[in-house]
Amino acid sequence: MTALSLNRTTTDMRRGACPALSAPMMTGDGLLARVALTDAISPRQLADLCRLARIHGNGILDISARGNLQIRGLSEASASLLEGDVRALNLPLREGLAVETPPLAGRDDTEIADPHPIADAIRLGARDMAGLAPKMSVVVDGHGRLRLSHLLADIRLVAVTTGDDIGWKLLLGGSETSAGIFAVLSEADAVSAALDLLEKLAAMGNGARGRDLAVNLPREGGDLPTTSPFDLFALADGLHAVGVGPAFAQSKAEDVIALCLAAEQLGIRLVKPALDHSLLFFGGSRACEALALFAAENGFITSAADPRGHIAACPGNPACRSATIATHDVAGEAGGEWADLLDGSFKLHISGCPKGCAHPEPTALALCGTPAGLSLIAQGKATDLPFADIKIADTKATLRRLADLVRSEKRAGENSAACLARLGTDRLAAAAMSGRP
Ligand code: SF4
Repeated sequence: MTALSLNRTTTDMRRGACPALSAPMMTGDGLLARVALTDAISPRQLADLCRLARIHGNGILDISARGNLQIRGLSEASASLLEGDVRALNLPLREGLAVETPPLAGRDDTEIADPHPIADAIRLGARDMAGLAPKMSVVVDGHGRLRLSHLLADIRLVAVTTGDDIGWKLLLGGSETSAGIFAVLSEADAVSAALDLLEKLAAMGNGARGRDLAVNLPREGGDLPTTSPFDLFALADGLHAVGVGPAFAQSKAEDVIALCLAAEQLGIRLVKPALDHSLLFFGGSRACEALALFAAENGFITSAADPRGHIAACPGNPACRSATIATHDVAGEAGGEWADLLDGSFKLHISGCPKGCAHPEPTALALCGTPAGLSLIAQGKATDLPFADIKIADTKATLRRLADLVRSEKRAGENSAACLARLGTDRLAAAAMSGRP
């Protein structure tokens, strides 16, 4: 038995306190357990988590779009051992309702307000609330440099300035721009309103979601703010953060362990899995720059300009039993053919099946696996009507023809998303099907 396993004598074994960890879900490569953190941990602790992924799982880790760590390839028995060993690490595990704050919150001197006090009060107030939907989520966003605008939330509070005062805009359902606007409230009223709404949703039954309360509310509309975690951020008190991430959200545990060891040697003391499948390391500017260099040399995404960061690909085949395609292989081909066109104006969505886990929102171009090959969807979700269906063997050639069309038709100053929207499904379909018998 390993040293990590022996630590179980100190374990807090309250099963059910953290459902994502104590009730792992079945996927194509076994059970998947999610480790959700409410705060940063040390690189050493992250390396310990990775070692547990190797001991108990298949050594493959995902970082989800919401910044949760997912450990894959578990059995019933090893999932239980993993839970005990993770709890023995005494990490700031999220218990109960998901109340999320941006990863730089409280350290970002550009934010209108630190969202932590509100998030803590909502967490505490909702602690004993029964009957909420299992995936219910609350976002509290202080309006700093890294926003959670893209994440879907049942209840969202966003800091706003109203004259000389700070208020909190309460939104229901959807992303920041698609959600219904409920009210702008003071901090105290924002907490009680959020808790009242959660009570209401709990009373409606565990299928009720924030969007059910937003039916007649006005929407902000427009484009979502674009923020990438793959950058170097100057924070308060001379602290810096650097965002790096594995390609297509998935990594071998040993690669993350090597990254954590490098961070530790550079004097970096904190790391947090964060939005867009990233890891944010906090330290001095030189240490962060050196770590970014190490990460880039070892295949991690370190820049917002990396085309791989603009592809949302689910784990696909063989990691998920619902997948009909190897999404990461398709993503690799797309990253090559579309490299200059992945300009951050949209996420190229590559989905192993119509469930569309990697990008639940519509996007300018989506590729979805089917039993017969691939469906191509424009301005929609993986479930929407495709403009073309192709064989998997035609993927690379089709991606190239579509890329050539966009490249040749793009107007000066036009981004790729706008060009795709202007071209429309008929022209995209013609390009996708051209050259085919
Ligand atoms: S979209 Fe489908 S294939 Fe991909 S992870 Fe979700 S369920 Fe699996």
